Amino acid sequence: MPSAQSQSTSSDGSARYETHEHDVIIIGAGGAGLRAAIEASALGLDVGLICKSLLGKAHTVMAEGGVAAALGNVEPKDNWKVHFRDTMKGGRYLNQWRMAQLHAMEAPDRVNELEEWGALFDRTADGRILQRNFGGHKYPRLAHVGDRTGLEMIRTLQQHGIHTGMKVYMECTVTRLLTTPGSGGGSGAPGASGQEEGDAVAGAFGYWRESGRFVLFRAKAVVLATGGIGRAFQINSNSWECTGDGQALAYLAGAELMDMEFMQFHPTGMVWPPSVRGTLITEGVRGEGGTLRNKDQKRIMFDYIHPLYANETAPTEEEADRWLALSTSGKMDKNVRRTPDLLPRDIVARAIHAEVKAGRGSPHGGVFLDIATRRTAADIKRKLPAMYHQFKELGDVDITKEPMEVGPTAHYTMGGIRVDPETQQTRVRGLFAAGECAAGMHGANRLGGNSLSDLLVFGRIAGLHAGRHAKERSGLPSLDLGQIEDAAREALAPFERSSGPNPFALHEELKDAMQTYVGIIRTEEDLSEGLRRLEALRERAGTIRIDGNRHYNAGWHETIDMRNLLIVSEAMARAAVLRKESRGAHARDDFPDTDKEHFAKVNIVSRKHGDTMEVREVPLPPIPGEIKQVLEEE
Ligand SMILES: Cc1cc2nc3c(=O)[nH]c(=O)nc-3n(C[C@H](O)[C@H](O)[C@H](O)COP(=O)(O)OP(=O)(O)OC[C@H]3O[C@@H](n4cnc5c(N)ncnc54)[C@H](O)[C@@H]3O)c2cc1C
Repeated sequence: MPSAQSQSTSSDGSARYETHEHDVIIIGAGGAGLRAAIEASALGLDVGLICKSLLGKAHTVMAEGGVAAALGNVEPKDNWKVHFRDTMKGGRYLNQWRMAQLHAMEAPDRVNELEEWGALFDRTADGRILQRNFGGHKYPRLAHVGDRTGLEMIRTLQQHGIHTGMKVYMECTVTRLLTTPGSGGGSGAPGASGQEEGDAVAGAFGYWRESGRFVLFRAKAVVLATGGIGRAFQINSNSWECTGDGQALAYLAGAELMDMEFMQFHPTGMVWPPSVRGTLITEGVRGEGGTLRNKDQKRIMFDYIHPLYANETAPTEEEADRWLALSTSGKMDKNVRRTPDLLPRDIVARAIHAEVKAGRGSPHGGVFLDIATRRTAADIKRKLPAMYHQFKELGDVDITKEPMEVGPTAHYTMGGIRVDPETQQTRVRGLFAAGECAAGMHGANRLGGNSLSDLLVFGRIAGLHAGRHAKERSGLPSLDLGQIEDAAREALAPFERSSGPNPFALHEELKDAMQTYVGIIRTEEDLSEGLRRLEALRERAGTIRIDGNRHYNAGWHETIDMRNLLIVSEAMARAAVLRKESRGAHARDDFPDTDKEHFAKVNIVSRKHGDTMEVREVPLPPIPGEIKQVLEEE
């Protein structure tokens, strides 16, 4: 539903292109974008929300298991400090500590606020928000709505947001950010993230997916909330929208990407039938008691307890099962340790990979996930309704009677746009980022449930600071016609060529190269081969030819997505080469150990330098004494 167009005539493109003007534009209508839009609107600003699918269809609706917040409803001992510690440990201490702290402190307020806005969570017997166990969380911490938490979150945010008066632009894809040179009125000093400032944002250029017509947005501040990059891999759990657009838009506009080597492979994706390979099976199945077994029916996770978690993990089935019974009834006993089935995702994914490699996998190349012998059929249907239907409809498997076959699937990127931890601003003045497209909160590995809380906490912070930034500026920035014409030329180039490769075939090749050479286990040799293939693909992508016209042209849309996928894939491969150790989601066969000296102290950052990508190490921000103390407390 486009808003009134600008009537101005000028040399900045608004005379030639449909133009919309707002104080703040938010690109992305998932959990992060909606929460940012609500916050900026609450400041009394004129906000535009742009999404390339329909409102209500963002990837966030797929979220299943829950939102992590130390509410302490099931286990009163839980608090922000324990959540902070779990998050930092899960991230192998590469997280930006301040983001992890803000997240742990603010998540309970954000979840309670969601409830006030109408979200209907599952309840405890005494009527409070129920919380479930998840990997790497010491206590039951995930507020949930069965296994459809994302749907409820989006429904609530949308319903609340729509009444704030924001304008929504659906099926509109942004292909370029527009900038103005210089500091944009900023101080020019490095922000808290240590990034020195570059240009200032002035708006965005995009096209309507239906008509193919171009559209301009002019704004004082822009928030990127475009989600992940899972579509770079053959086997993935992500929606079609997850093509790394925001990361690429930011990179092309002069912002930095960080932690790109850390791609999370969720341990439990469907492995059969092939048409749905990669579709997610929520960690909530293990939270409800599900166990991972190999073809000999042996519970595998007892053989893969990581030294970092050895003290707190049950070494026997008896103790693991006792812990599960106690923790779900709110009667924790500190002498009974957690089940290894709920170790963090990086550890579980590698365990499954190792079992399959050793020839102990299931018939279709995964392992078994058994809930049927652990809970009653009625419990399974009540607590995991989406999983029950997913397997019944897609795999013809009744999970109340049979085990599921599961294997790792590319799921979530810890890496993304580098932001200031306090404000979510990038090094481009007025450009903010939040949610999965931003980096820093999760370090080397994200804990389940910490994404939905990240969207709420940092969506709000990004919206707030984008709003404040806009308020400080009197007029809209002017747009540079040269940049606009370049963006239009770039988008139309595939129509001008007489012959060239098919974009869908190239995307398949890209996914194959990433899966094979930049996948779950990496080596220098494979990564170098991956980079060679990406370079060849980049050259061929520059020669793609598109037939037909611009009206709903899927091949054209795919071509535009390819540019973004190639940028994020290259950043991932280059950062993975540079990090010569194994840590969290980044596993190197040629450097299997975690380096406690050098690589424990750096994040890897990519930045555009002319036509090439510059990748370098930056030191982690120092952790203040009182925060170190929190990390060391038990
Ligand atoms: C199956 C599944 C289950 C999950 N379950 C959980 C869970 O239980 N708990 C948890 O914490 N996390 C979970 N996650 C992860 C979590 O859902 C995501 O990390 C999160 O939803 C990302 O939200 P977001 O707001 O950053 O982006 P998204 O929800 O991905 O939204 C991105 C938005 O950006 C728009 N967009 C993208 N590119 C452009 C462009 N170029 N122009 C205009 N618009 C654009 C899209 O249209 C969309 O509106 C799950 C993920 C999957 C795949």
